[in-house]
Amino acid sequence: MSGKAKKRYYRKHIDLFKLLQKIKLWPSRKGILHGIKSINIKGNRAEILTHCNERFVINNSKNSRVSRWLRNKWFFGVCGKCKVPEWKLEKYSSTYFSQYKGSKLESGEWQIDNKS
Ligand SMILES: [Zn+2]
Repeated sequence: MSGKAKKRYYRKHIDLFKLLQKIKLWPSRKGILHGIKSINIKGNRAEILTHCNERFVINNSKNSRVSRWLRNKWFFGVCGKCKVPEWKLEKYSSTYFSQYKGSKLESGEWQIDNKS
């Protein structure tokens, strides 16, 4: 019974950066899921570095493609170079987004590692 991941809920309109820091997964434009190595937040922008050393600069938007893809768990494949572990994918697949319940990852529940 140990392989069954616990369901977790986040709010639908969660802060994108906080969500990315939490789940550490990045769906690329081509639909490939990468593992996030680091996130460097500068105001309303963040620089994402994946384990396969790809760099993306994104704006903090709840309505962006990435937010949408993460919420709907859209991806076609997993990056072979990032070596995303099975447990992380399992955790992601048992993550749900709801308008009414779940964590908003607000301060107290979640500490942002923001160096600036
Ligand atoms: Zn990758």
